[in-house]
Amino acid sequence: VLRLEAVRKTFGRTVVLRDVDLEVAPHTVTALIGASGSGKSTLLRCANLLEEIDDGAIFLDGEEITDPRADPDAVRRRIGVVFQAYNLFPHMTVLQNITLAPRRVHGVGRAEAEERARELLERLGLSGKAGEYPDRLSGGQQQRVAIVRALACRPRLLLLDEITAALDPELVGEVLDVVRGLKDEGMTMILATHEMGFARDVADQVCFLDGGVVLERGTPAEVFGEPRQERTRRFLRRLV
Ligand code: ATP
Ligand code: MG
Repeated sequence: VLRLEAVRKTFGRTVVLRDVDLEVAPHTVTALIGASGSGKSTLLRCANLLEEIDDGAIFLDGEEITDPRADPDAVRRRIGVVFQAYNLFPHMTVLQNITLAPRRVHGVGRAEAEERARELLERLGLSGKAGEYPDRLSGGQQQRVAIVRALACRPRLLLLDEITAALDPELVGEVLDVVRGLKDEGMTMILATHEMGFARDVADQVCFLDGGVVLERGTPAEVFGEPRQERTRRFLRRLV
């Protein structure tokens, strides 16, 4: 679905991503792990063309999206994104939040957009919340609405950046359960996470970023069970 080839990203003189290669197969989950500042969010932002890369190339379904002639809006329509802070529009109801992009960006009719939204809300355990305003929901519910909003555009790929980082510990589980459910349905996802237990549990591929380099990658069993690099071992040791 997504392929990065020798992607390089700098901010001024700081190299944030260095020759990053990444291949994400359909219906798989890729977990990006690594210390704060290692480049996880930047990688996700580059994949969604929120940041321009300095070198290399990114392909979505075989098409080079970093080609200057590619249409960034068309690319973003195929990629769903959820960030740490849920960013729901506070003056809109849950239903309005979810149907906004399908109606405005994808030209879906109101009735169809609302039907789809209600279906997704029900699947994520939020039926009954359609008419609420975001500030009347718990953090976990808000984050699940943000996921519904991303899914409402039927993306090819979902990018999730620390979606549980802002949540109280008791609300983390319900959001992770949603991600597990999406995986079971075959959604292709890349997630940046500090939840190592979750990455181990849900990911097909784990990439350890260190200073903008993919230092180690493999199955969860490989990366968590028998890391080859000393730096990976040190990173994981610090967490337990
Ligand atoms: P965290 O786990 O804290 O979320 P991260 O792995 O997501 O960290 P990034 O946010 O990708 O890390 O940041 C990687 C590096 O890029 C950091 O050194 C950061 O300071 C730098 N950086 C990120 N965005 C910008 C920006 N807009 N301008 C300048 N430097 C930036
Ligand atoms: Mg980040």
